[in-house]
Amino acid sequence: MRLVLVGPPGAGKGTQAQYIASNLSIPKISTGDIFRANVSGGTELGKLAKSYMDRGDLVPDEVTVAMVRDRLSEEDAQDGFLLDGFPRNVPQAEVLRDMLKEWGQTLDIVLNLVVDDDEVVRRLAGRRTCSQCGRIWHVEFDDKKDDRCDACGGQLFQRDDDKEETVRHRLEVYQQQTAPLIEFYADEGILVGVDATGPVEEVTRRAMEALRPFAG
Ligand code: ADP
Ligand code: ADP
Repeated sequence: MRLVLVGPPGAGKGTQAQYIASNLSIPKISTGDIFRANVSGGTELGKLAKSYMDRGDLVPDEVTVAMVRDRLSEEDAQDGFLLDGFPRNVPQAEVLRDMLKEWGQTLDIVLNLVVDDDEVVRRLAGRRTCSQCGRIWHVEFDDKKDDRCDACGGQLFQRDDDKEETVRHRLEVYQQQTAPLIEFYADEGILVGVDATGPVEEVTRRAMEALRPFAG
């Protein structure tokens, strides 16, 4: 299955991507994670991406698209993948469509995670990420009393771009550049909305239910 997760920052894309990809045995490809790994690794790509990420702006399409093309060309992505955080605007969606077409592939489904603005702000304000295994936690909803990862014991950190001012800008970028994807994929007839409120497991269950007609 080839699928894309869309939704505003903080909707729960990364959280759901972990479970959905593992349920379907397909690789989870998160462009934000790949960029962050490059930033901490000090690569050329990381140096270029960092200033955009710190401001909460999108990294230029040229760079992002080249990175995704490389990743989708890898062996493990040939029979399916889950994209989280890409595409992020209509031009990226058009390039993805053309790229897949070139390879004789198409997207099966785009899941749109739907939550309101207040919940998005609450989720982003409490987000913590494990520096060791990358797992995503929430200080309040996961009742985190310490800053250690329950899964691997690694140190948790708050992303620089989750500070209040940057969050506000990222939400504007979402409205202006990313939200138009919803109509783009609705026109293609592959968009399915998923209510992303309530417990994580409940959202995963709704997402898997939406995917059922496409699985296996
Ligand atoms: P979130 O989980 O809050 O939606 P991500 O981890 O997906 O955020 O992305 C973090 C940052 O990485 C973005 O603000 C942007 O700077 C950059 N980024 C991630 N994916 C893309 C993309 N498809 N195009 C351009 N920039 C991207
Ligand atoms: P995105 O990738 O869309 O930016 P994340 O998956 O990183 O979103 O989730 C943002 C924050 O919200 C994280 O702290 C995560 O633990 C929390 N979160 C995700 N899903 C839920 C949920 N269903 N209920 C409560 N908190 C959630």
